[in-house]
Amino acid sequence: MKELKLSDFLNSVIEKNPCEKIFHQSVAEVASSIIPFINNHARYRNYKLLQSIVEPERAILFKVPWKDDLGRLQINKGYRVEMSSALGPYKGGLRFHPSVNLDSLKFLAFEQIFKNSLTSLPLGSGKGGSDFDPKGKTENEIMKFCQSFMIELHRYIGSSIDVPAGDIGVGGREIGFLFGQYSRLTKNKKGGALTGKGFGWGGSILRPEATGYGVVYFTDALLSARNNSIQGKRVAVSGFGNVAWGATKKATELGAKVITLSGPDGYVYDPDGVQGDKIDYMLELRQSNEDIIQPYAKKYGAKFYPNKRPWEVKADIAIPCAIQNEMDENDAKNIIQNKYLCVVEGANMPCTLGAIKMFNKAKIPHTPGKASNAGGVSVSGLEMVQNSIHLRWTHEEIDQRLKLIMNNIHDTCEKYGKANDGYIDYTKGANIGGFVRIADAMIQQGLV
Ligand code: GLU
Repeated sequence: MKELKLSDFLNSVIEKNPCEKIFHQSVAEVASSIIPFINNHARYRNYKLLQSIVEPERAILFKVPWKDDLGRLQINKGYRVEMSSALGPYKGGLRFHPSVNLDSLKFLAFEQIFKNSLTSLPLGSGKGGSDFDPKGKTENEIMKFCQSFMIELHRYIGSSIDVPAGDIGVGGREIGFLFGQYSRLTKNKKGGALTGKGFGWGGSILRPEATGYGVVYFTDALLSARNNSIQGKRVAVSGFGNVAWGATKKATELGAKVITLSGPDGYVYDPDGVQGDKIDYMLELRQSNEDIIQPYAKKYGAKFYPNKRPWEVKADIAIPCAIQNEMDENDAKNIIQNKYLCVVEGANMPCTLGAIKMFNKAKIPHTPGKASNAGGVSVSGLEMVQNSIHLRWTHEEIDQRLKLIMNNIHDTCEKYGKANDGYIDYTKGANIGGFVRIADAMIQQGLV
Protein backbone atom coordinates (compact mmCIF):
# COMPACT_ATOMS: atom_id res chain seq x y z
CA MET A 1 0.00 0.00 0.00
CA LYS A 2 1.32 3.44 -0.83
CA GLU A 3 2.74 5.81 1.78
CA LEU A 4 0.34 8.28 3.41
CA LYS A 5 1.32 11.92 3.12
CA LEU A 6 0.78 14.26 6.07
CA SER A 7 -0.04 17.25 3.87
CA ASP A 8 -2.65 15.30 1.84
CA PHE A 9 -4.32 14.16 5.01
CA LEU A 10 -4.34 17.58 6.67
CA ASN A 11 -5.67 19.21 3.52
CA SER A 12 -8.52 16.73 3.40
CA VAL A 13 -9.37 17.44 7.07
CA ILE A 14 -9.33 21.20 6.43
CA GLU A 15 -11.49 20.79 3.34
CA LYS A 16 -14.06 18.66 5.15
CA ASN A 17 -14.09 20.82 8.30
CA PRO A 18 -13.55 24.39 7.15
CA CYS A 19 -13.15 27.12 9.78
CA GLU A 20 -12.41 24.67 12.62
CA LYS A 21 -8.98 26.10 13.41
CA ILE A 22 -8.36 24.54 16.84
CA PHE A 23 -9.54 21.17 15.59
CA HIS A 24 -7.09 21.45 12.66
CA GLN A 25 -4.30 22.29 15.14
CA SER A 26 -4.94 19.22 17.27
CA VAL A 27 -5.27 16.91 14.25
CA ALA A 28 -2.01 18.32 12.83
CA GLU A 29 -0.23 17.66 16.14
CA VAL A 30 -1.46 14.05 16.31
CA ALA A 31 -1.11 13.25 12.60
CA SER A 32 2.47 14.50 12.44
CA SER A 33 3.47 11.77 14.89
CA ILE A 34 1.24 8.95 13.75
CA ILE A 35 1.57 9.19 9.97
CA PRO A 36 5.31 8.34 10.00
CA PHE A 37 4.47 5.47 12.40
CA ILE A 38 1.66 4.24 10.16
CA ASN A 39 3.94 4.32 7.13
CA ASN A 40 6.28 1.94 8.97
CA HIS A 41 3.53 -0.41 10.12
CA ALA A 42 1.54 -2.03 7.32
CA ARG A 43 -1.27 -3.09 9.66
CA TYR A 44 -2.30 0.52 10.19
CA ARG A 45 -1.49 1.91 6.75
CA ASN A 46 -5.07 2.59 5.80
CA TYR A 47 -6.27 6.03 4.84
CA LYS A 48 -9.81 5.19 5.93
CA LEU A 49 -8.64 4.44 9.46
CA LEU A 50 -7.30 7.97 9.81
CA GLN A 51 -10.36 9.49 8.17
CA SER A 52 -12.54 7.55 10.56
CA ILE A 53 -10.64 8.57 13.68
CA VAL A 54 -11.11 12.31 13.04
CA GLU A 55 -14.84 12.02 12.35
CA PRO A 56 -17.14 12.28 15.40
CA GLU A 57 -19.63 9.42 15.58
CA ARG A 58 -22.24 12.01 16.49
CA ALA A 59 -22.31 15.74 17.31
CA ILE A 60 -25.40 16.96 19.10
CA LEU A 61 -26.28 20.66 19.17
CA PHE A 62 -29.21 21.98 21.19
CA LYS A 63 -30.72 25.19 22.51
CA VAL A 64 -30.58 26.02 26.23
CA PRO A 65 -33.15 28.63 27.21
CA TRP A 66 -33.16 29.80 30.85
CA LYS A 67 -34.22 32.79 32.90
CA ASP A 68 -31.80 34.97 34.85
CA ASP A 69 -32.55 36.42 38.31
CA LEU A 70 -34.23 39.45 36.74
CA GLY A 71 -36.65 37.17 34.88
CA ARG A 72 -35.06 37.85 31.48
CA LEU A 73 -34.90 35.05 28.95
CA GLN A 74 -31.34 33.95 28.06
CA ILE A 75 -30.38 31.64 25.22
CA ASN A 76 -27.22 29.55 25.09
CA LYS A 77 -25.93 26.81 22.86
CA GLY A 78 -25.48 23.30 24.26
CA TYR A 79 -23.34 20.55 22.72
CA ARG A 80 -22.24 16.97 23.13
CA VAL A 81 -19.68 15.61 20.70
CA GLU A 82 -19.73 11.79 20.87
CA MET A 83 -16.39 11.17 19.25
CA SER A 84 -15.52 7.51 19.54
CA SER A 85 -17.03 4.48 21.26
CA ALA A 86 -14.55 1.84 20.11
CA LEU A 87 -13.07 1.53 23.62
CA GLY A 88 -16.22 1.97 25.72
CA PRO A 89 -19.00 4.46 26.49
CA TYR A 90 -18.29 8.03 25.34
CA LYS A 91 -16.42 9.69 28.20
CA GLY A 92 -15.24 13.23 28.75
CA GLY A 93 -16.12 16.46 30.44
CA LEU A 94 -18.57 19.30 29.98
CA ARG A 95 -17.08 22.77 29.61
CA PHE A 96 -19.04 25.97 30.33
CA HIS A 97 -17.01 28.82 28.87
CA PRO A 98 -17.58 31.56 26.26
CA SER A 99 -14.92 29.96 24.02
CA VAL A 100 -17.01 26.80 23.62
CA ASN A 101 -18.18 26.05 20.09
CA LEU A 102 -18.21 23.02 17.82
CA ASP A 103 -14.57 23.64 16.84
CA SER A 104 -13.17 23.72 20.39
CA LEU A 105 -15.28 20.73 21.44
CA LYS A 106 -14.19 18.65 18.45
CA PHE A 107 -10.58 19.41 19.37
CA LEU A 108 -11.18 18.39 22.98
CA ALA A 109 -13.14 15.25 22.04
CA PHE A 110 -10.39 14.30 19.58
CA GLU A 111 -7.68 14.73 22.23
CA GLN A 112 -9.84 12.70 24.61
CA ILE A 113 -9.64 9.66 22.29
CA PHE A 114 -5.90 9.38 22.87
CA LYS A 115 -6.05 10.38 26.53
CA ASN A 116 -8.69 7.80 27.38
CA SER A 117 -6.93 5.16 25.31
CA LEU A 118 -3.69 5.79 27.26
CA THR A 119 -5.42 5.14 30.60
CA SER A 120 -5.97 1.48 29.53
CA LEU A 121 -9.51 1.73 30.96
CA PRO A 122 -12.59 0.85 28.87
CA LEU A 123 -13.47 4.45 28.00
CA GLY A 124 -14.61 5.88 24.68
CA SER A 125 -14.36 9.59 24.13
CA GLY A 126 -16.64 12.60 24.08
CA LYS A 127 -16.80 16.22 25.14
CA GLY A 128 -19.60 18.69 25.58
CA GLY A 129 -20.64 21.93 27.14
CA SER A 130 -21.98 25.34 26.42
CA ASP A 131 -20.96 28.91 25.60
CA PHE A 132 -22.63 29.81 28.94
CA ASP A 133 -20.27 32.01 30.94
CA PRO A 134 -20.47 31.30 34.70
CA LYS A 135 -18.59 34.55 35.39
CA GLY A 136 -20.75 36.89 37.44
CA LYS A 137 -23.70 34.48 37.59
CA THR A 138 -25.48 33.74 40.85
CA GLU A 139 -25.81 30.22 42.20
CA ASN A 140 -29.50 30.30 41.36
CA GLU A 141 -28.74 31.23 37.75
CA ILE A 142 -26.17 28.46 37.49
CA MET A 143 -28.69 25.96 38.80
CA LYS A 144 -31.38 27.16 36.37
CA PHE A 145 -28.94 26.89 33.50
CA CYS A 146 -27.77 23.39 34.48
CA GLN A 147 -31.36 22.20 34.77
CA SER A 148 -32.29 23.49 31.34
CA PHE A 149 -29.08 22.05 29.84
CA MET A 150 -29.94 18.62 31.24
CA ILE A 151 -33.49 18.71 29.87
CA GLU A 152 -31.87 18.14 26.47
CA LEU A 153 -28.69 16.27 27.42
CA HIS A 154 -30.46 13.50 29.38
CA ARG A 155 -31.75 11.97 26.13
CA TYR A 156 -28.22 11.10 25.03
CA ILE A 157 -26.37 9.97 28.15
CA GLY A 158 -26.40 6.84 30.35
CA SER A 159 -23.99 4.68 32.32
CA SER A 160 -23.24 2.41 29.36
CA ILE A 161 -23.76 5.01 26.61
CA ASP A 162 -22.17 8.35 27.39
CA VAL A 163 -20.85 9.50 30.78
CA PRO A 164 -20.04 13.24 31.03
CA ALA A 165 -18.08 14.83 33.88
CA GLY A 166 -16.74 18.30 34.67
CA ASP A 167 -14.22 20.52 32.92
CA ILE A 168 -13.61 24.28 32.91
CA GLY A 169 -16.64 25.99 34.51
CA VAL A 170 -18.16 22.68 35.64
CA GLY A 171 -17.13 21.53 39.11
CA GLY A 172 -18.78 19.57 41.90
CA ARG A 173 -21.56 22.15 42.34
CA GLU A 174 -22.58 22.05 38.67
CA ILE A 175 -22.37 18.24 38.51
CA GLY A 176 -24.72 18.23 41.53
CA PHE A 177 -27.29 20.41 39.74
CA LEU A 178 -26.94 18.38 36.54
CA PHE A 179 -27.25 15.08 38.36
CA GLY A 180 -30.29 16.25 40.37
CA GLN A 181 -32.11 17.13 37.16
CA TYR A 182 -30.96 13.95 35.39
CA SER A 183 -32.32 11.75 38.12
CA ARG A 184 -35.68 13.63 38.14
CA LEU A 185 -36.03 13.27 34.40
CA THR A 186 -35.01 9.63 34.12
CA LYS A 187 -36.00 8.22 37.51
CA ASN A 188 -32.49 6.74 37.47
CA LYS A 189 -31.07 7.22 40.93
CA LYS A 190 -27.96 5.12 40.46
CA GLY A 191 -25.83 7.93 39.18
CA GLY A 192 -23.65 6.05 36.69
CA ALA A 193 -24.45 8.54 33.93
CA LEU A 194 -22.22 11.28 35.33
CA THR A 195 -18.91 11.27 37.19
CA GLY A 196 -17.42 13.82 39.52
CA LYS A 197 -20.42 13.40 41.80
CA GLY A 198 -20.36 14.36 45.48
CA PHE A 199 -18.81 11.76 47.76
CA GLY A 200 -22.09 11.28 49.65
CA TRP A 201 -24.11 10.43 46.52
CA GLY A 202 -22.05 8.11 44.35
CA GLY A 203 -18.86 10.09 43.84
CA SER A 204 -15.40 8.66 44.25
CA ILE A 205 -12.97 9.74 46.86
CA LEU A 206 -10.08 11.70 45.30
CA ARG A 207 -11.97 12.56 42.08
CA PRO A 208 -11.73 16.34 42.75
CA GLU A 209 -7.97 16.07 43.31
CA ALA A 210 -7.32 13.44 40.63
CA THR A 211 -6.37 15.57 37.62
CA GLY A 212 -3.89 17.73 39.54
CA TYR A 213 -2.49 14.82 41.57
CA GLY A 214 -2.06 12.84 38.36
CA VAL A 215 -0.15 15.72 36.75
CA VAL A 216 2.26 15.77 39.68
CA TYR A 217 2.66 11.97 39.72
CA PHE A 218 3.47 12.20 36.03
CA THR A 219 6.01 14.98 36.71
CA ASP A 220 7.63 12.88 39.39
CA ALA A 221 7.78 9.84 37.09
CA LEU A 222 9.44 12.01 34.44
CA LEU A 223 11.96 13.39 36.91
CA SER A 224 12.71 10.06 38.57
CA ALA A 225 13.46 8.60 35.10
CA ARG A 226 16.23 11.26 35.11
CA ASN A 227 17.39 10.47 38.66
CA ASN A 228 15.72 13.60 39.97
CA SER A 229 12.53 14.40 41.91
CA ILE A 230 10.03 17.18 42.42
CA GLN A 231 11.17 17.74 45.99
CA GLY A 232 12.66 21.19 46.54
CA LYS A 233 11.77 22.42 43.05
CA ARG A 234 10.16 25.78 42.23
CA VAL A 235 7.03 25.25 40.17
CA ALA A 236 5.33 27.83 37.94
CA VAL A 237 1.63 26.97 37.71
CA SER A 238 -0.95 28.81 35.60
CA GLY A 239 -4.68 28.91 36.25
CA PHE A 240 -6.32 28.62 39.66
CA GLY A 241 -9.13 26.16 38.92
CA ASN A 242 -9.54 22.50 39.69
CA VAL A 243 -6.36 21.25 37.96
CA ALA A 244 -4.13 24.03 39.32
CA TRP A 245 -5.57 23.43 42.80
CA GLY A 246 -4.89 19.66 42.80
CA ALA A 247 -1.43 20.11 41.29
CA THR A 248 -0.50 22.77 43.86
CA LYS A 249 -1.76 20.61 46.71
CA LYS A 250 0.21 17.52 45.67
CA ALA A 251 3.36 19.39 44.58
CA THR A 252 3.48 21.16 47.95
CA GLU A 253 2.88 17.89 49.80
CA LEU A 254 5.85 16.38 47.96
CA GLY A 255 8.12 19.22 49.04
CA ALA A 256 8.02 21.50 45.97
CA LYS A 257 7.18 25.21 46.04
CA VAL A 258 4.45 26.56 43.76
CA ILE A 259 5.39 30.19 43.12
CA THR A 260 2.79 31.38 40.59
CA LEU A 261 -0.92 31.15 39.83
CA SER A 262 -2.81 33.00 37.13
CA GLY A 263 -6.21 34.10 35.87
CA PRO A 264 -7.49 35.90 32.78
CA ASP A 265 -6.54 39.16 34.58
CA GLY A 266 -2.81 38.35 35.07
CA TYR A 267 -0.58 36.30 37.34
CA VAL A 268 0.57 36.37 40.95
CA TYR A 269 4.14 35.70 42.07
CA ASP A 270 4.41 34.25 45.55
CA PRO A 271 8.04 33.30 46.26
CA ASP A 272 7.07 31.90 49.70
CA GLY A 273 4.97 29.26 47.95
CA VAL A 274 1.23 28.65 47.66
CA GLN A 275 0.64 26.48 50.71
CA GLY A 276 -1.67 25.86 53.69
CA ASP A 277 -4.74 28.07 53.69
CA LYS A 278 -3.61 29.73 50.45
CA ILE A 279 -4.50 26.46 48.69
CA ASP A 280 -7.98 26.47 50.27
CA TYR A 281 -8.36 30.09 49.20
CA MET A 282 -8.05 28.97 45.56
CA LEU A 283 -11.35 27.14 46.02
CA GLU A 284 -12.97 30.24 47.50
CA LEU A 285 -11.76 32.36 44.60
CA ARG A 286 -13.16 29.89 42.09
CA GLN A 287 -16.47 29.66 43.90
CA SER A 288 -16.87 33.45 43.77
CA ASN A 289 -17.41 33.24 39.95
CA GLU A 290 -15.35 36.40 39.38
CA ASP A 291 -12.63 34.54 37.45
CA ILE A 292 -9.81 36.81 38.65
CA ILE A 293 -6.61 36.04 40.59
CA GLN A 294 -5.79 39.56 41.81
CA PRO A 295 -7.60 39.14 45.18
CA TYR A 296 -5.01 36.46 46.05
CA ALA A 297 -2.22 39.04 45.71
CA LYS A 298 -4.12 41.51 47.92
CA LYS A 299 -4.90 38.92 50.57
CA TYR A 300 -1.41 37.43 50.86
CA GLY A 301 0.78 40.37 49.88
CA ALA A 302 2.04 38.62 46.74
CA LYS A 303 3.06 40.53 43.63
CA PHE A 304 0.43 40.85 40.88
CA TYR A 305 1.36 41.26 37.21
CA PRO A 306 -1.73 42.40 35.29
CA ASN A 307 -2.38 40.96 31.83
CA LYS A 308 0.75 38.82 31.92
CA ARG A 309 1.41 35.12 31.97
CA PRO A 310 3.68 33.45 34.55
CA TRP A 311 6.19 32.00 32.07
CA GLU A 312 8.63 34.86 32.55
CA VAL A 313 9.54 33.85 36.13
CA LYS A 314 12.61 31.83 37.07
CA ALA A 315 11.50 28.36 38.13
CA ASP A 316 12.40 24.70 37.61
CA ILE A 317 9.14 23.24 36.35
CA ALA A 318 6.23 24.71 34.38
CA ILE A 319 2.76 23.25 34.80
CA PRO A 320 0.29 25.14 32.58
CA CYS A 321 -3.18 24.39 33.94
CA ALA A 322 -5.37 27.15 32.45
CA ILE A 323 -6.55 26.76 28.85
CA GLN A 324 -5.52 25.90 25.28
CA ASN A 325 -2.77 27.94 23.62
CA GLU A 326 -1.72 29.80 26.78
CA MET A 327 2.00 29.16 26.16
CA ASP A 328 3.44 30.34 22.86
CA GLU A 329 6.85 30.66 21.26
CA ASN A 330 7.73 33.78 23.26
CA ASP A 331 6.95 32.00 26.49
CA ALA A 332 8.92 28.97 25.30
CA LYS A 333 11.91 31.24 24.72
CA ASN A 334 11.83 32.39 28.37
CA ILE A 335 11.42 28.84 29.64
CA ILE A 336 14.38 27.63 27.59
CA GLN A 337 16.48 30.62 28.68
CA ASN A 338 15.64 30.00 32.33
CA LYS A 339 16.65 26.34 31.92
CA TYR A 340 13.44 24.75 33.16
CA LEU A 341 13.70 21.00 33.74
CA CYS A 342 10.38 20.22 32.06
CA VAL A 343 6.99 21.53 30.94
CA VAL A 344 4.12 19.31 32.06
CA GLU A 345 0.70 20.16 30.64
CA GLY A 346 -2.15 20.18 33.14
CA ALA A 347 -4.61 21.80 30.72
CA ASN A 348 -5.57 20.40 27.33
CA MET A 349 -3.16 21.69 24.65
CA PRO A 350 -1.92 24.79 26.53
CA CYS A 351 1.24 24.89 24.38
CA THR A 352 1.10 26.00 20.76
CA LEU A 353 2.65 23.77 18.10
CA GLY A 354 5.48 26.33 17.75
CA ALA A 355 6.26 26.20 21.48
CA ILE A 356 6.32 22.38 21.49
CA LYS A 357 8.75 22.36 18.55
CA MET A 358 11.04 24.73 20.45
CA PHE A 359 11.00 22.54 23.58
CA ASN A 360 11.86 19.47 21.53
CA LYS A 361 14.66 21.31 19.78
CA ALA A 362 16.08 22.52 23.11
CA LYS A 363 15.56 19.00 24.52
CA ILE A 364 13.41 20.23 27.40
CA PRO A 365 10.95 17.42 28.12
CA HIS A 366 7.43 18.58 27.34
CA THR A 367 4.41 16.39 28.08
CA PRO A 368 1.02 16.79 26.39
CA GLY A 369 -2.15 17.08 28.49
CA LYS A 370 -3.55 13.92 26.93
CA ALA A 371 -0.83 12.04 28.85
CA SER A 372 -0.10 14.14 31.91
CA ASN A 373 -3.65 15.24 32.78
CA ALA A 374 -5.26 11.82 32.25
CA GLY A 375 -5.57 11.31 36.02
CA GLY A 376 -8.96 13.04 36.12
CA VAL A 377 -10.66 10.86 33.58
CA SER A 378 -8.91 7.83 35.08
CA VAL A 379 -10.50 8.36 38.49
CA SER A 380 -13.78 9.02 36.64
CA GLY A 381 -13.31 5.54 35.17
CA LEU A 382 -12.75 4.21 38.70
CA GLU A 383 -15.91 6.05 39.83
CA MET A 384 -17.85 4.21 37.10
CA VAL A 385 -16.52 0.87 38.33
CA GLN A 386 -17.47 1.68 41.93
CA ASN A 387 -20.96 2.76 40.83
CA SER A 388 -21.51 -0.45 38.91
CA ILE A 389 -20.40 -2.76 41.73
CA HIS A 390 -22.10 -0.61 44.40
CA LEU A 391 -18.93 -0.43 46.41
CA ARG A 392 -16.68 2.36 47.50
CA TRP A 393 -12.92 2.05 47.43
CA THR A 394 -10.68 3.70 50.02
CA HIS A 395 -8.42 6.71 49.58
CA GLU A 396 -5.36 4.43 49.52
CA GLU A 397 -6.84 2.15 46.87
CA ILE A 398 -7.73 5.01 44.53
CA ASP A 399 -4.45 6.81 45.10
CA GLN A 400 -2.45 3.66 44.36
CA ARG A 401 -4.41 2.95 41.18
CA LEU A 402 -4.03 6.56 40.06
CA LYS A 403 -0.26 6.44 40.59
CA LEU A 404 -0.02 3.17 38.71
CA ILE A 405 -2.02 4.52 35.77
CA MET A 406 0.12 7.68 35.56
CA ASN A 407 3.34 5.66 35.75
CA ASN A 408 2.07 3.33 33.01
CA ILE A 409 1.18 6.29 30.80
CA HIS A 410 4.65 7.70 31.37
CA ASP A 411 6.19 4.37 30.35
CA THR A 412 4.01 4.15 27.24
CA CYS A 413 5.15 7.63 26.19
CA GLU A 414 8.73 6.58 26.77
CA LYS A 415 8.28 3.38 24.77
CA TYR A 416 6.91 5.10 21.68
CA GLY A 417 8.61 8.47 22.02
CA LYS A 418 12.26 7.65 22.76
CA ALA A 419 14.71 8.71 20.07
CA ASN A 420 18.10 7.10 19.42
CA ASP A 421 19.86 9.77 21.47
CA GLY A 422 17.64 8.95 24.46
CA TYR A 423 15.52 12.13 24.29
CA ILE A 424 11.83 11.42 24.80
CA ASP A 425 9.32 13.19 22.60
CA TYR A 426 6.32 12.73 24.90
CA THR A 427 3.83 14.08 22.39
CA LYS A 428 4.92 11.53 19.81
CA GLY A 429 4.89 8.79 22.47
CA ALA A 430 1.41 9.72 23.73
CA ASN A 431 0.00 9.98 20.22
CA ILE A 432 1.37 6.67 19.03
CA GLY A 433 0.70 4.88 22.34
CA GLY A 434 -2.90 6.14 22.35
CA PHE A 435 -3.32 5.42 18.65
CA VAL A 436 -2.23 1.76 18.73
CA ARG A 437 -4.96 0.77 21.20
CA ILE A 438 -7.78 2.64 19.49
CA ALA A 439 -6.64 1.57 16.01
CA ASP A 440 -6.52 -2.11 17.02
CA ALA A 441 -10.01 -1.83 18.50
CA MET A 442 -11.35 -0.15 15.35
CA ILE A 443 -9.77 -2.70 13.04
CA GLN A 444 -11.01 -5.62 15.15
CA GLN A 445 -14.52 -4.16 15.25
CA GLY A 446 -14.61 -3.69 11.49
CA LEU A 447 -13.39 -0.11 11.06
CA VAL A 448 -16.04 1.57 13.15
N1 GLU B 1 -12.55 17.08 31.71
C1 GLU B 1 -11.59 16.14 32.18
C2 GLU B 1 -10.67 15.74 31.05
O1 GLU B 1 -10.40 16.55 30.18
C3 GLU B 1 -12.25 14.95 32.87
C4 GLU B 1 -13.14 14.12 32.01
C5 GLU B 1 -13.87 13.02 32.77
O2 GLU B 1 -13.64 12.81 33.93
O3 GLU B 1 -14.70 12.36 32.10
O4 GLU B 1 -10.13 14.67 30.96
